[in-house]
Amino acid sequence: MKLTPAVIIGAGHAGLAMSRRLTERSIEHVVLERGEVANSWRTQRWPSLRLLTPNWQTRLPGYHYAGDDPDGYLPAADVAATITRYARLVGAPVRTATAVRTVRATPQGFEIQANDDILHARAVVLATGACSLPAIPRGGYAVPPPVTTLTPLTYRYPGQLPEGGVLVVGASATGIQLAAEIHASGRPVTLAAGEHVRLPRSYRGRDIFWWLEATGLLAERYNEIDDLTRARHLPSPQLTGTPAAITDLNALAAQGVRIVGRLGRIADGVAQFSGALANTCALADLKMNRFLNRADAWAKAAGLRGLPPPRRFEPTRVDPGAPLELDLSSGEITTVLWATGFRPDHSWLDIPVRDRAGHIRHDGGVVTGAPGLYVLGLPVLRTRASSYIHGAAADSEALAGHLHAFLSSRRR
Ligand SMILES: Cc1cc2nc3c(=O)[nH]c(=O)nc-3n(C[C@H](O)[C@H](O)[C@H](O)COP(=O)(O)OP(=O)(O)OC[C@H]3O[C@@H](n4cnc5c(N)ncnc54)[C@H](O)[C@@H]3O)c2cc1C
Repeated sequence: MKLTPAVIIGAGHAGLAMSRRLTERSIEHVVLERGEVANSWRTQRWPSLRLLTPNWQTRLPGYHYAGDDPDGYLPAADVAATITRYARLVGAPVRTATAVRTVRATPQGFEIQANDDILHARAVVLATGACSLPAIPRGGYAVPPPVTTLTPLTYRYPGQLPEGGVLVVGASATGIQLAAEIHASGRPVTLAAGEHVRLPRSYRGRDIFWWLEATGLLAERYNEIDDLTRARHLPSPQLTGTPAAITDLNALAAQGVRIVGRLGRIADGVAQFSGALANTCALADLKMNRFLNRADAWAKAAGLRGLPPPRRFEPTRVDPGAPLELDLSSGEITTVLWATGFRPDHSWLDIPVRDRAGHIRHDGGVVTGAPGLYVLGLPVLRTRASSYIHGAAADSEALAGHLHAFLSSRRR
């Protein structure tokens, strides 16, 4: 029986960054990928999607953006191309079209069933992504027929939707982008906005991600964050990288999108919305201003010169007459689009390492109770930057170091 030192599952940017780190340490390994390299960006993203992080921030171990548009935002197809080039650059030993069906613990390490093969490894890195499945709220399946339901994983473009009104549920990065795109196609859009993170696309002449990085917010470590569970489930910021950037509810409302409160439940075909929309928006405005205060204080302390002066943005306007109910059987709404977030799919992991909510228990990516098992690419895995592509650089370095020490201890 051949025992491979390490197996990485998933050839997205995170798995490839890990591959590079293991190669740097001369650790023999293989990367198993069910599709092609960058499969998620090829098959699970809608074509008009662009990263909301600027190009200069797309950094991986041994790679930084060297194109002529550092302040632009990569379209999904270019993200796939970039990751594919990266796989070549780092010479990652990827086995494509190799879907992992089960991973089990054995006395020697792990047994991995992939396609019809069985592999044995001392260490396994789960890099299968944080966004493999849509997170649809409980009760979401009560949408009455013939209303069509879609998720961001199945949505491609507005023409795929039937004519008629669209209820977009969720007003984070995905929801606001898709609401704007579908509205522009002539379909009336209602957007149900729950808790959201409002941020301006740029502030005082710099991209907001520049500020998030410069102020140290993205570098905050998982073991220093007060409410880590909450941080790991925070919605993505209301930002888009699309050229006609719509980055807040005011802009969407001005274009004619109807904003309503959080979708509570669907009972007998009637969607019921929270009446607390004004509070939800006021809280998002407050938190945005809190971050802008932090940015201003940091700029002052750092002695930054030549910046435009601080400014504050118009509070979110809330329509006091926003409906609290919408009869989905009336024919007004023909599509419900769940933009309510994503979740990972580790259903093939046959090792008892999940908590009651189904999340893998881990300490900064070192899986608890399963020596030699690691997970990478989850939100706020080790820092707030872990939720973004560039966060994989530091995370893979830390986990590769741990994995190296683990293999050395096993050899001894
Ligand atoms: C809509 C959206 C927008 C985003 N925008 C940004 C952004 O602007 N900036 C940013 O930095 N990040 C962004 N992200 C977040 C982040 O970059 C992605 O979640 C990223 O794809 C995660 O990379 P990954 O390598 O961890 O996982 P993935 O890219 O999902 O790669 C996982 C790989 O594992 C493979 N796989 C899964 N299961 C198996 C199996 N059982 N066997 C074998 N292979 C398997 C998949 O096919 C896939 O190729 C966005 C995410 C989404 C969903």
